[in-house]
Amino acid sequence: MDKVCAVFGGSRGIGRAVAQLLAHKGYRVAVLARNLDMAQAAAGELGGGHFAFSCDVAKERDVQNAFEEMGKNLGPVNFLVNAAGINRDSLLVRAKSEDMLSQLHTNLLGPMLTCKAAIKTMIQQQGGSIVNIGSIIGLKGNSGQSVYSASKGGLVGFSRALAKEVARKKIRVNVVAPGFVHTDMTKDLKEEHLKKNIPLGRFGEPIDVAHAVVFLLESPYVTGHVLVVDGGLQLVI
Ligand code: NAP
Repeated sequence: MDKVCAVFGGSRGIGRAVAQLLAHKGYRVAVLARNLDMAQAAAGELGGGHFAFSCDVAKERDVQNAFEEMGKNLGPVNFLVNAAGINRDSLLVRAKSEDMLSQLHTNLLGPMLTCKAAIKTMIQQQGGSIVNIGSIIGLKGNSGQSVYSASKGGLVGFSRALAKEVARKKIRVNVVAPGFVHTDMTKDLKEEHLKKNIPLGRFGEPIDVAHAVVFLLESPYVTGHVLVVDGGLQLVI
């Protein structure tokens, strides 16, 4: 059977590195993001046989359409990576409800919708593997990121419950929880200051996270696991 992987948020950052590593390993990859030009550029880097689709993970109709299109162009999806995510950092007292909702919709509702659609396909194929990208902030919390932390902590609870729910169908669900990684999301952070707290002394690169994602995608006896990829940051915060 072809290995077909949908990478939501595959146009930039961590998702893009995951898409590149998967294509290198022989998967057929669907790159999904809201910005179709960026998704097409990322899919174009992968060579032939890969596709890009525009999709807002927070919209169920978009997600359903994306799975229909992926089925037609690539075949049934049997691997799923949820790397789409946003942050709207703010102290809670100053946070706007629209920013709270957009984080919850993208980071938590989105993976729920993509997993729901993927599981229908995976059950038909008698198996599949899902990796959701959480965050060390969802496990440890951080001042100014309470809503983002809630969205990522919620994603862990969701993933572990779903892992129990679908294990009998031979579908695995795991989480990778990165620390600070060089992407657009972290470009405005004070890196020199922050990296002093990281035992390995540097921010991660997207490929560092991609290796962990692919490890979990392909580990046949691991489900409901949260793999922290943070250069040791969790040891000190
Ligand atoms: P990034 O470089 O900003 O990329 C985000 C990706 O998500 C883009 O492809 C973006 O494309 C897509 N996206 C955003 N909202 C979307 C939506 N509503 N529907 C579909 N796609 C959407 O971010 P990143 O740093 O790679 O982050 C990837 C994941 O890792 C996120 O879940 C993030 O929370 C998590 N994470 C990142 C770090 C870090 O240090 N970078 C640390 C811990 C966890 P469009 O904008 O075109 O939609």
